[in-house]
Amino acid sequence: MTNKCKAPAGSGIMEQYGSLVFNLKTMRNYLSEKAYQSIKSTLLKGETLDPSISDEVADAMKTWAMEKGATHFTHWFQPLTGATAEKQEAFLQPDREGGVLTSFSGKELIQGEPDASSFPSGGLRATFEARGYTAWDPTSPAFVKEGPNDSVVLCIPTVFCSYHGEALDKKTPLLRSQNALAKQIVRMAKLFGVTGTARPFGTLGAEQEYFLVDRGLFKARPDLVQTGRTLFGKRSARHQQMEDHYFGHIKPRVIAFMTDVDQELWKLGVPAKTRHNEVSPAQFELAPVFEEQNLAVDHNMVVMQVLAEVAERHDFACLLHEKPFAGVNGSGKHNNWSVSGPDGKNWLSPGDNPHDNAKFLTMIAAIMTAVDTYAPLLRATVASAGNDHRLGANEAPPAIISIYLGEQLADMIAQIEKGGNAKTSKSGGSIQIGVSGLPDLPRDATDRNRTSPMAFTGNKFEFRAVGSNMSCAGSNVVLNTITAWSIDEICTTLEKKLAGGADFNSALQELIRSIVRDHKRILFDGDNYSEAWKKEAARRGLQNLTTTPAALKELVTPAAVELFERYGVLTARELKSRYEAYLHAYEQTVALEANCALTIASTMILPAALETERNLAATLAAGRGLSAHTGLRQIAKSVAKHVDELVAAIGMTEKALDGHESARIIAGMTAMRKAGDALEAHVPADLWPLPTYADLFFLI
Ligand code: ADP
Ligand code: MG
Repeated sequence: MTNKCKAPAGSGIMEQYGSLVFNLKTMRNYLSEKAYQSIKSTLLKGETLDPSISDEVADAMKTWAMEKGATHFTHWFQPLTGATAEKQEAFLQPDREGGVLTSFSGKELIQGEPDASSFPSGGLRATFEARGYTAWDPTSPAFVKEGPNDSVVLCIPTVFCSYHGEALDKKTPLLRSQNALAKQIVRMAKLFGVTGTARPFGTLGAEQEYFLVDRGLFKARPDLVQTGRTLFGKRSARHQQMEDHYFGHIKPRVIAFMTDVDQELWKLGVPAKTRHNEVSPAQFELAPVFEEQNLAVDHNMVVMQVLAEVAERHDFACLLHEKPFAGVNGSGKHNNWSVSGPDGKNWLSPGDNPHDNAKFLTMIAAIMTAVDTYAPLLRATVASAGNDHRLGANEAPPAIISIYLGEQLADMIAQIEKGGNAKTSKSGGSIQIGVSGLPDLPRDATDRNRTSPMAFTGNKFEFRAVGSNMSCAGSNVVLNTITAWSIDEICTTLEKKLAGGADFNSALQELIRSIVRDHKRILFDGDNYSEAWKKEAARRGLQNLTTTPAALKELVTPAAVELFERYGVLTARELKSRYEAYLHAYEQTVALEANCALTIASTMILPAALETERNLAATLAAGRGLSAHTGLRQIAKSVAKHVDELVAAIGMTEKALDGHESARIIAGMTAMRKAGDALEAHVPADLWPLPTYADLFFLI
């Protein structure tokens, strides 16, 4: 195991926090006062960048990066693949005398032109226009990435779009949706008399779950190497039933890994805060302190990369797949979401005066309206082949989207609707918005519904359906946009009533009452895993979109197109291209997994099973006439039966692949796995060709 971090753990690492980031603190030392002030207001107020300072900023960035040892720069972007992309260029300009100069201009900083033809565009980029354009996103600071062999690269977070300015990435709509939300929050602030000039923004804390397995064992599993999940594998005797892993003692080898991860992240300015064992064996979690959403999304992409790279150095493989193992919990990403207002305060935090509480309850009503109206759209943002194995698998929220508010807040909301007495209101009487004081809401973990996809957790909503492997961008684009829409509706209603001479507090009381009446079906505090909820949700008219193809269609409904176009987040063409790119990725993933499973079934499992069958047959033949062999005969028959089933399933999968029908391909894979896992119970351990679940779970 090599430890690449120069500083020993604990010694001075806090001083190294952000040392690889070209942040405002660093810029102050590298820029003129004029350029520094200009870029500062771009960052803090979301103003557009003054082009006249771009050369100076580029030069400063280059000087700083080269002092850190950088030889290259890259525009770092997030295409629709869900990963990050980069094309590295050296800071190099040969001169006429055979020497070389270093160069990096403002133009190079602001715009790049990578060949876009091999990125998914869902048909947006015509073949004759292969170029894509990357444009600097100054709101996410540039950083340098250290690699093996002392390689150091300056990474410049950028957006990625087509020649016509259409979004080809995940960042562009996120920034647009932040603007849409900010605009409505400013409008609401005016109505509620909130002062302050800070730029409103969504906040995000993305809790990241992952598995670690030994790298040698990982390499012996073609399914893990090629698809990130086990396509075969019988659940081991010991799995998660002892409930001893969650928050348990962290093994020394894992602590060594986590320490390295934290240090790498801290240097990159990623505020990694919490680390612990998760529920499944070999499963862990890393949670950062929340940040402005765009930055937090970028940082989560960095977290996933750092986890994978550091794992390699520690002879681990880090599995980020949503469901690497059947029969134990999968991995998700809890998307903790809130809104920071122009006053710089968290708008999902109940305040300590009636005025703040009115704003808080309005936000809750806005989110109820938004999620109830656009639940299927939110579901679509977490649709992927990997997450289909996890959602609703009795560990992760189901595909039915609902909201959990917690007992006390749900009671307040109910009392506002009925106009009755809330047992929890401070004054003891009925809640009068803008007049009554509200008690503090509990933030302790006991008042939690772990099965809810969208849970209010004291001062934020936790959207739990995001898959561990996904970018958080898509879900936050929708959370921002649908909230912008519902706040827009609320403000329009209130503004009209006020213009007609209505009293603010009573107009608001009436509005929230009608919102609760119309949207309370989205609230659910029971067990989201139960069969009863499925029935109840259907009765309430809430959709249960269990597969990716069904969910993705929600991206292109007329209502979705209207919404995204109205707020300038995505055009109809951009939505259609996303739908096509994601559906294509889904179909490719299913086909890839099926082909990989076929190879394993035909070239690894079947030969081992046939040898077992032969050995059993030979033993039975040799012992003919011995009565004690009845049990053995049963085993031999069972092996023969599962071999037949495996062969039949191989044929079925091959046929389904020819027909390109995902649902049938998945059925074929499921049948192959069932037969394969049954055979694992009979094939001698030394003949079994794959590391077992027990090996993968416990040999770390
Ligand atoms: P818990 O989920 O147990 O309440 P925390 O309160 O620590 O744990 O929060 C979990 C995650 O939510 C952390 O990443 C944290 O930074 C994030 N978080 C806390 N407050 C906010 C907020 N206002 N907006 C977005 N994320 C937040
Ligand atoms: Mg949490």
